[in-house]
Amino acid sequence: MDEIFTFGLLMVILIIYVVFSFNRAKIIGKKGELNVNFNLHFLSNEYHLFDDVYIYLNDKSIQIDHIVVSKYGVFVIETKNIKGWILGGDNSEYWTKNVYGKKYKFYNPVKQNYSHVKALQILLKISRDKFIPIVAFLPQATLKCTTSEIVITSNKLLKTIRNYKDIILTDNDVDRIVMELSSLSGVDRKMRKQHVDDIKRNVEIKKEKINACICPKCNGVLIERRGPYGKFLGCSNYPKCNFTQRN
Ligand SMILES: [Zn+2]
Repeated sequence: MDEIFTFGLLMVILIIYVVFSFNRAKIIGKKGELNVNFNLHFLSNEYHLFDDVYIYLNDKSIQIDHIVVSKYGVFVIETKNIKGWILGGDNSEYWTKNVYGKKYKFYNPVKQNYSHVKALQILLKISRDKFIPIVAFLPQATLKCTTSEIVITSNKLLKTIRNYKDIILTDNDVDRIVMELSSLSGVDRKMRKQHVDDIKRNVEIKKEKINACICPKCNGVLIERRGPYGKFLGCSNYPKCNFTQRN
């Protein structure tokens, strides 16, 4: 009886050890995989994948991480290489990530993706209901966000896409969209440069405005204020506008 017990105990320990080291290998393997690209290539040929798409609309360039076109809809994917605790909602301007008690702000990715969908709607001339916006974080992120949109970790991306089984686009629609998106990649390099130039220009404009005591957010007047950490520039439209700038 004793021998059977000892044998059983050893087996249990062995199983725990094997499962643990397997999981560990998986976690380490995932760490290097910063984008969801790798994952998306596993989709069947019913799906057409476009990576790093640049579109130019109303004097603004927009960069979209991934677009997956299928008869089940057009998936617009915004990836965030961010881990830690992720907090935010549909309507907040910024979300926060919390890593070991340190908080960082980043622009609301759901809102960001909405603007991408809007641009694609105009460019591809298809209605909003044909789009499925998805925000994907690193697998190590812990999502604590409350949102009505799809916000997932990238390891759930394939399953999420494959779950859409209703056919909402005709083969002709799909062909047309694929052609239009393909034609965009021809002007890729130019767009890319334009995108970088736009960002640089916006930074310049912001600097110039602040130097002239104009709020870059609402064009109000910036005034010097005093806070517990010293002097800073704040917008005169506070609390409507919360722009501040430390010297
Ligand atoms: Zn302001």
